[in-house]
Amino acid sequence: MKQSQIFSRAKKENVTDQSINANLLIRSGFIRKLMSGVYSYLPLGSIVLKNIENIVRQEMNKLGGQEILMPALHPKEPWERTKRWQNKEMFKIKDRNFSLGWTHEEIVVPLAKQFIDSYKELPFSVFQIQNKFRNEARAKSGLLRGREFLMKDLYSFHQNQECLDSFYEKAIKAYFKVYQRCGLKEKTFLTLASGGSFSKYSHEFQTVIEAGEDEIYLCPKCALAINKEIIEEEKYQCPQCKNKDLKVEKAAEVGNIFKLQEKYTEPFDLKVKDEKGKESFVLMGCYGIGISRLMGAIVEAFHDEKGIVWPKEVAPFDIHLIPIGKVKKEADKLYDNLQKEGNKVLYDDRDKSVGEKFAEADLIGIPLRMVLSEKTLEKKCVETKKRNETKTKLQKYKG
Ligand code: ATP
Ligand code: MG
Repeated sequence: MKQSQIFSRAKKENVTDQSINANLLIRSGFIRKLMSGVYSYLPLGSIVLKNIENIVRQEMNKLGGQEILMPALHPKEPWERTKRWQNKEMFKIKDRNFSLGWTHEEIVVPLAKQFIDSYKELPFSVFQIQNKFRNEARAKSGLLRGREFLMKDLYSFHQNQECLDSFYEKAIKAYFKVYQRCGLKEKTFLTLASGGSFSKYSHEFQTVIEAGEDEIYLCPKCALAINKEIIEEEKYQCPQCKNKDLKVEKAAEVGNIFKLQEKYTEPFDLKVKDEKGKESFVLMGCYGIGISRLMGAIVEAFHDEKGIVWPKEVAPFDIHLIPIGKVKKEADKLYDNLQKEGNKVLYDDRDKSVGEKFAEADLIGIPLRMVLSEKTLEKKCVETKKRNETKTKLQKYKG
């Protein structure tokens, strides 16, 4: 992509947003704020969000999830049935008995019921990637807590506990794959949280960042994290090994998985008969990942005083190509060649000073900066620098 053609340039301006992620993402031209907790994704931001979305989609497909898309506009009836119509987080449409989707158990269970009448149709899982709406009391921390935000929600349906338990374990592995691909593996912990309907614990995935709203307690012996609610119940001891020497960290919840059991299948009477004709409610699990929160968390985890430092797989481009001086013809050609080799390239074809171009490249945070100048050209080289390193390298290139 040619930088001169992106309509949303990075802009020098004072951003009033206090959070690091919103501040950096607005200044570098990735997002813009419409109102508190609601953001537009500009071309660069949209690419990153889609990159994260695709990582999540691929891992959910590998887990066996089938992608669907449910409505974001909901009628009142299913929410009354589960007694959640009065939920404070739900936005309602004034003068109509409609609400905006903040979660989808009430929609997915009646949908599944239209197709499931035998145990032979189980297990299965469906997921969607969709904007959720939540009337958060305090929308703050930029993308970390929005009133409209992108979430992946997956729902699994099972005949028996064993089947749900084994799917749940596979989901944990799939989630870690997602965080690993987002560069967050070392900073993200499986965290004990208060229970699903019948199990003692549910699990949160918490990423350690200063801006996180939550506090987690890490047990170095068990490589396990415990959230605040649970650690209070456990009197500040690791529930597994009783170790009291726990490390406290600030963290953001980037995912949450629950065994719902029959909590939602019962109100909608979703039952199946087993091989012997015995009827029981279908068991469910639900599995959420905050995709836009992940984007905010990545920026919180990977930045320096100059700007964002995107991990490779989520970065909007692989290479930021910056020509200096009278090398337009050669740079145009290099731009084409790099793309032909399969690289995603942002080409700074603008008429700006070297200082400005470098500062903006650091702010935007593409993993590799590549400079072509008259000087490097003489040596048939380009100068490369990784965003997370200071040293530059001269590299031969085919002109
Ligand atoms: P929190 O405790 O942070 O409010 P939650 O328990 O309400 O989260 P879930 O309902 O489990 O969250 O939603 C699944 C995932 O969606 C969360 O793990 C989080 O990553 C993301 N998420 C939840 N609320 C928001 C929000 N307001 N803005 C951005 N992402 C969110
Ligand atoms: Mg919440």
